[in-house]
Amino acid sequence: MPDLPGFTFHIMFQKIDDAELKEFLAKNQGVKSIDVLIIDLLGITRGKRIFRTEFESFVKNGIRGPVSLYVYDSAGMVPENLPYATEDGDPDFPVYGQSGSLYIESWKDTDRAEIFAWIEQAPGQVSFTDTRHILKNTVEKFHRRGIKPTLGIEIEFFLVTYDKNRGVVINPHDAINNIPYSSPRCYSMEDLNSCEAFFDEVMQACEDTGIKIETLIKEAGTGQFEVSLRYSDDLVQICDHVLIFKTIIKSIARKMGWCGCFMAKPFEDQPGSGLHMHIGMFDESGNNLFYSSPSSENHTPLSDMGLHAVGGMMQTMTESVAIFAPNANSYRRLKGKQFAPFNGVWGMNNRTVAVRIPNSPPQSTRVEHRLPGSDANPYLCAATLLESILLGIDKQIRPDAPVVGNAYGKRSDGDLPSYWPVALQEFSEAEFIRNAFGDTFWRVYLKSREAECSRFYNRITLRDYDWYLQNAITTKELKQWDLAHNMHPFMNFEKEREMIAEGKGAYVYNSDGKRFLDGIGGLWCVNIGYGRQELATAMAEQVMKLPYYSPFVIFSNPQSTQLAKKLTDIAPDNLKHVYFTLGGSEANDFTVRLVHQYNNLRKMPYKKHIISRKQAYHGMTYMAASVSGIQYNNQGYDTITDGIHHISTPNCFRKPVAGMDDDQYAVWLAEEFERKILEIGAHNTAAFIAEPIMGAGGVYVAPQGYHKRMWDICKKYDILYISDEVVTGFGRLGEFFASEKCFGIRPDIINVAKGITSGYVPLGATLLSDEIYKVLKTVTSRPVTLIPDIRFVVQ
Ligand code: PLP
Repeated sequence: MPDLPGFTFHIMFQKIDDAELKEFLAKNQGVKSIDVLIIDLLGITRGKRIFRTEFESFVKNGIRGPVSLYVYDSAGMVPENLPYATEDGDPDFPVYGQSGSLYIESWKDTDRAEIFAWIEQAPGQVSFTDTRHILKNTVEKFHRRGIKPTLGIEIEFFLVTYDKNRGVVINPHDAINNIPYSSPRCYSMEDLNSCEAFFDEVMQACEDTGIKIETLIKEAGTGQFEVSLRYSDDLVQICDHVLIFKTIIKSIARKMGWCGCFMAKPFEDQPGSGLHMHIGMFDESGNNLFYSSPSSENHTPLSDMGLHAVGGMMQTMTESVAIFAPNANSYRRLKGKQFAPFNGVWGMNNRTVAVRIPNSPPQSTRVEHRLPGSDANPYLCAATLLESILLGIDKQIRPDAPVVGNAYGKRSDGDLPSYWPVALQEFSEAEFIRNAFGDTFWRVYLKSREAECSRFYNRITLRDYDWYLQNAITTKELKQWDLAHNMHPFMNFEKEREMIAEGKGAYVYNSDGKRFLDGIGGLWCVNIGYGRQELATAMAEQVMKLPYYSPFVIFSNPQSTQLAKKLTDIAPDNLKHVYFTLGGSEANDFTVRLVHQYNNLRKMPYKKHIISRKQAYHGMTYMAASVSGIQYNNQGYDTITDGIHHISTPNCFRKPVAGMDDDQYAVWLAEEFERKILEIGAHNTAAFIAEPIMGAGGVYVAPQGYHKRMWDICKKYDILYISDEVVTGFGRLGEFFASEKCFGIRPDIINVAKGITSGYVPLGATLLSDEIYKVLKTVTSRPVTLIPDIRFVVQ
């Protein structure tokens, strides 16, 4: 790879050896596995988990891993056209663990340790994308000059809960009441107390892993907190501690049912989360090199070196923003005020600037850089700042005068890029970064960020349609087109249409943005509400994987198979087989044909009559409409009347005899049913079809005991009971299937649709008993299925 100079880091970490491992295992006898951690360009922890049998070989020879581990983007994908990780075939290289960096995951109930590691692309040559080594080598430049840099870090983060109804949307968390926060309560001790159990566990874990927390505060955002890590002259280790701290927060939050959030700007109306870096410089005798008594000229307590450090930071800030703000979300933080800098200015004891000199005793004089977000790679940020300080010192760069007062309105020459593409453009022209970290690093980092940036912006989101589609087509036009071209079930040929354009939760919105409470759930379909991200994601993934394949004869697909298995797992025990359709009408239609075929195969060719009920609704296909009992729906149509009968609607408000109680009424209805069977002849009667609770024909709740009586009669005369659960299934009555759980019957066939996908895709299903299936199975010479199967299934 001749065009990739500089794989070599001269200063490398020492490798862990056998003696160190043995000593560690002697102290921590239960350790069963070690996570070998590679920190990628973005500061995301990746790696491999190794188990006891591998420990010895790991310290002797390392394990193997590809350099792509360093260059995955935020979504875990390798950007294209990188000089390595893709172009070179992504070979494996040895991975070694660092001496002194092995520690126990004390906060988890596991017997696991973790160790920081790196990849060597050739003996003694660490990958240039190893940002821990980048920082180590930068620090070394100071040590060679007899200067000891120190670094203290403040990390801000949110404790949030996932909003399960909306999938990915999150709320700041109120630990006391287990509800989202309503107000920020900055510096509130009450809020710290309310999370006491959580933070006690966090602090214990920090102590166990050697992380030195100086302070913990409730920050300015709702559900936002900040810790400061005590400054240290081991810069790589304090950055390691930032990553371990993030893992601790996320793990313990997960145990509590919350989520630790280190995004730079998770909420539009809340402050963002920063990773403020405090940098000091000391000589070998421990004197603070940034301090000098304030002279009348510069009015600051900063020494020349301190001023040059600030000068270097200011000069290189614009081209470094792409490092401090590594992803699309990072830039949302740099826009609002709320204590996030967006002007490249500095000041004394001033929170509105990018570089602040905090108010401190002389020996603690330091420079605080407030640009990095808590999503940034701490090693890379620290290394960039140190390199900018070196530049400032070497070139004796003096900054402009410090800003006094609110800096948000004060623009300087170095106004910072607040859009990602602009920041990347600045980075691509950056001499400073290329000189500091080498051409290879600069190129790989740039390509990785450019690839993620273009993928982020190329994706067309719902907001695109929300904002731009409506502008293109007016509601009026839509309504006209609809009347002219779009035919509806139960069509009204004149009336203006209501265009329902969007749904969220239990509400729908028309194309003018007016909100309606969707009491009926679409048409008894959208049982889980609108806007479920997890369904959208599953559907999109499935469509990309396999949108359709013929289910005829021997073909199947994993999704419909798994759904059939799942349905039979949750259905009444006797229903073991599923036939998928495109909806409820088709399931009912299919069922009639199935029942006929069943009796043909049983050599009972006369047993074909179906008994249904007045006001029943079973769908709009020819057979389903014929079986239905709503006369109004069939006006003007032909229906099949031969072999289809309708008995009374079980209507407790219109009993046939005044004063009849519900029990007597149930008996009356059952007797009517039995009379009808005897009139048709049991040997001619194939099936009874009924909705557990009627829907479209009027929501009639039958008298108690009705279903059981009807079912018993079916059993008595060898008549199949078809339960049409198109409306009652999937939660409408609190159960997946209502027949057995709510009404104590085990139908021979249950038909479902609607709620099975909450209407997100058209799907219906007929579930049938093993007894029916065994009869159907006797025809092996030709396919039993009659209608093309579903297009795809979303789980
Ligand atoms: N069965 C019942 C009980 C229904 O309420 C409906 C529709 O409302 C159907 C069947 C027809 O289902 P689909 O509209 O999915 O064809």
